[in-house]
Amino acid sequence: MEQTLAILKPDCVRRGLIGEVIRRIEAAGFRIRAMKMVHLTKKEAEGFYAVHRGRPFFEELTTFMSSGPCVPMVLEKENAVADFRALIGATDPAEAAEGTIRREFAESKGQNIVHGSDSVENARIEIHFFFPSIELV
Ligand code: ATP
Repeated sequence: MEQTLAILKPDCVRRGLIGEVIRRIEAAGFRIRAMKMVHLTKKEAEGFYAVHRGRPFFEELTTFMSSGPCVPMVLEKENAVADFRALIGATDPAEAAEGTIRREFAESKGQNIVHGSDSVENARIEIHFFFPSIELV
């Protein structure tokens, strides 16, 4: 079954939205296969988002992602990668479709509540960034 890596970002945790976002994820048919809370260092956030190094928002993004705890999780479902991207909506909440998690809760393009892998190959890499195989159930 296909898996994707989701992260409830520090704004989600800070605003007390973990429960509400997980409720929506489960209601959409995803099974949680691994989950934990971590506070990334700046270096770890830079490592996770290495593909964005050099982009104008890289500094803002990695400072934000290391600003407080976040909740990475492995989600499983048929077509998990694409279906999770559809559930969260576009990067910019102003452009996200009605009913999506970002449209409902995100405050800006930077502080947008949740991350979702953008391909099956990246999901595999991102899952192993956060979870050693012993933590994958
Ligand atoms: P994610 O990878 O977090 O699921 P995404 O695939 O929708 O997001 P990307 O273009 O890969 O978006 O950008 C990664 C993250 O970088 C975004 O989720 C957002 O938090 C941040 N970001 C992207 N563009 C901007 C921007 N113009 N200003 C501030 N932050 C941005």
